[in-house]
Amino acid sequence: MATPSSSQTKNSQRTLAHLVIPVQYISVREQIQQLLVLQERDQKLLIIARDLERIPRDEAHANSALAGDQATLAKAIDTLRHCEVDTKKVELDIATRKTTILRLRQQQFETRKNEEYTALGNEVIRYEKEIDRLETTELEFMEKADELRLKVKEAEAQLKRSQTLVNDDLADLANKKEQLLARKQELQKERSELSALIDAEVVPLYERLMKGKNGSALVQVAGGLCCGCHMKLVPSTLVKVLGGVELTQCENCGRILYPE
Ligand SMILES: [Zn+2]
Repeated sequence: MATPSSSQTKNSQRTLAHLVIPVQYISVREQIQQLLVLQERDQKLLIIARDLERIPRDEAHANSALAGDQATLAKAIDTLRHCEVDTKKVELDIATRKTTILRLRQQQFETRKNEEYTALGNEVIRYEKEIDRLETTELEFMEKADELRLKVKEAEAQLKRSQTLVNDDLADLANKKEQLLARKQELQKERSELSALIDAEVVPLYERLMKGKNGSALVQVAGGLCCGCHMKLVPSTLVKVLGGVELTQCENCGRILYPE
C-alpha cells in the first residue's frame, strides 16, 4: 500500500489513495484493519483530551492547598497584632495610673488636713492595686504574644514548605501538559494520514459512531453478541460479519462489527 508523503495535504492524500487503491479492491477485512488502527489512535486522543481537561483543575487544586496555608498565616499575624494592641492599652493604663499616683502624692504633701491626707493615701493604695492587677495582665499578654510569635513562625515555615511542594506540582503539571500536547500533535498527524487512506464514504459513518458511541465505532462480535451493546445479533447479521463481503453494523446500536 502506498503511503503519501507528509507534505501532501489531506485532500490530495485522499485523492491519491483513491487513485492508487480503488475502494472496490480493498477487502472488507483490510478496511476493518484500517479502521481499527484509526480507532486505536482516536481512542488515545480521547484519553489525552481527558487528561488535558483535568490539568487546570489539578493546578487549581494545587494552588488551593497554598491558599489554606496563606489564610492560616494571615490569621496568626492578625491574632498577634491584636494581642500587641491589647498589651499597649494595658501599658498605657499603667502609665496613666502612675501619673495619677504622683499627682495624689503631691496633693498629699501639700495638704494640711489629716482627713484629706488619709483619703488621698487610700486613693493611692487603690491605684497601686489596680497597677498590680494591670501588670499581671500585661505579663499574661506578653507571654501570649511570645506563643503567637511562635505560631506565626510555624505558619511561615509551613507556607514555605507548601510553596515548594506546590511549585513542584505545578512544574510537573506543566511538563505533563507539554508531553500530552506533543503526543496529541503526533497522533493527530497519524490519524489524518490514516483516515485519508480509508474509503471516503465510510469515514463519516465512523466519525459519527466515534462521537455518538463514546469512542467505540468498531466492536467485536463474541458468542453471537455485539460487544458494544451486548445484544444478541440476528443470524443474518452474523452471516454478513463472518462472510466479510460488506461492512456490517449492529442492528441495535449501529456500531461496525468485526468477527472474533
Ligand atoms: Zn451493538
